Amino acid sequence: MDFDFTAAQEAFRKDVRAWLEANVPDDLRGRAFAASRADREEVRQLRAWQKRMYGAGYVGMDWPPAFGGRGASIVEQIILYQEMAQAESPQFVNRGGLSMLGPTLMRHGTPAQQARFLPGILTADELWCQGFSEPNAGSDLANLQTRAVREGDTFVVNGQKVWTSMAHVADWCFLLVRTDAAAPKHKGISFLLVDMRTPGITVRPLRQITGEAEFNEVFFDNVRVPVDNLVGKLNEGWSVAITTLAYERDLLTFIRHISLRNALRRLVRLTKERGRSGDPVVRQKVAHLWIGEQALQLNGYRSLTKILRGGQPGPEGSTAKLFWSQVDQELAEVATEVLGPSSQIAHGSPWAADEGQWEFYALLARASGIRAGTSEILKNILAERVLGLPKD
Ligand SMILES: Cc1cc2nc3c(=O)[nH]c(=O)nc-3n(C[C@H](O)[C@H](O)[C@H](O)COP(=O)(O)OP(=O)(O)OC[C@H]3O[C@@H](n4cnc5c(N)ncnc54)[C@H](O)[C@@H]3O)c2cc1C
Repeated sequence: MDFDFTAAQEAFRKDVRAWLEANVPDDLRGRAFAASRADREEVRQLRAWQKRMYGAGYVGMDWPPAFGGRGASIVEQIILYQEMAQAESPQFVNRGGLSMLGPTLMRHGTPAQQARFLPGILTADELWCQGFSEPNAGSDLANLQTRAVREGDTFVVNGQKVWTSMAHVADWCFLLVRTDAAAPKHKGISFLLVDMRTPGITVRPLRQITGEAEFNEVFFDNVRVPVDNLVGKLNEGWSVAITTLAYERDLLTFIRHISLRNALRRLVRLTKERGRSGDPVVRQKVAHLWIGEQALQLNGYRSLTKILRGGQPGPEGSTAKLFWSQVDQELAEVATEVLGPSSQIAHGSPWAADEGQWEFYALLARASGIRAGTSEILKNILAERVLGLPKD
């Protein structure tokens, strides 16, 4: 494999770098690795940032031109992510739309759904949330109980979702519902696109360990959804959801990698600033993180290559998600160790390092082994579907 870039690719890198240098807003650069999606004002800024990047041609670069993308190669996509990390740009705010729903619609959506929804995902004019988990359906997602009953041209939805990130700021939700209660649990599920402004939807924020409320409970009380918003066939939503989850574990991990790189750069800076870079144990830990980050990146390139060549993310995407969560949590621990007791000083205090982002990062990292599939579940998937071991 040739890791050298061609002259044209280096020219592209130069252009991206110059553009990012001139355009990443200073206040977002400061929040590069722990940008919040709880605060409405910050979400507004992040939306504007994604839109600006889209205007410059840097969002959905790998999407086919027919869907509003540039049909760019894997290499340009990689260069973009590298340069976003280098410039301390935050990740795209509409990442659920970009990395999960977009690819799902390209594969399972009707031409009308693709034309209606893909542009708003790219520009972040329409933010999406993922309505999958329920109080009794997390790891065992197929156990979901939110029901949808067809009445004329609409489905009437009743039930509850939980842990729905960004539901409080989202315009739309991709929602899993049960449409046939009598069928075996994986068979009677459908995939709907729901306007979050529809009457009957109540969003209640849940406060997290970080102190913020970035995820929510969402209640559906006789919510009417047009039948045109059904993605895939009725009662066959499970296979649509599997596509979404595979992209979540694979592609989304790749996008999250921008934040991880940003955090690692900051950690190196922090280690030097705190006079800890001469400590052999700290040096070893930082070097170990660096190796992990590089391995994650190269694995990400492999998956991305497969996807851009027309393949689909497979169960091996679970490796990326699992390993990312481990490196992420290890990084938070090393930063906490380097900072010592002051690692607990939060945003708002003049004594907080990097404006309190480390305190936030350390707490947020607890969720890395839960969201997008817990580590135990991912290990089961790898054992059964990649290694071919007996079923759980
Ligand atoms: C920050 C954050 C954001 C999230 N955002 C969203 C979102 O936007 N949309 C959404 O739909 N969901 C979201 N989630 C929910 C997430 O997908 C679920 O929390 C996750 O799937 C686990 O489900 P659960 O919480 O019900 O835990 P459970 O499934 O009840 O699991 C509890 C524990 O039991 C273990 N366990 C369960 N089954 C097995 C088994 N068979 N073998 C071994 N161990 C097992 C699990 O690993 C876990 O440790 C988010 C979660 C977090 C933390």
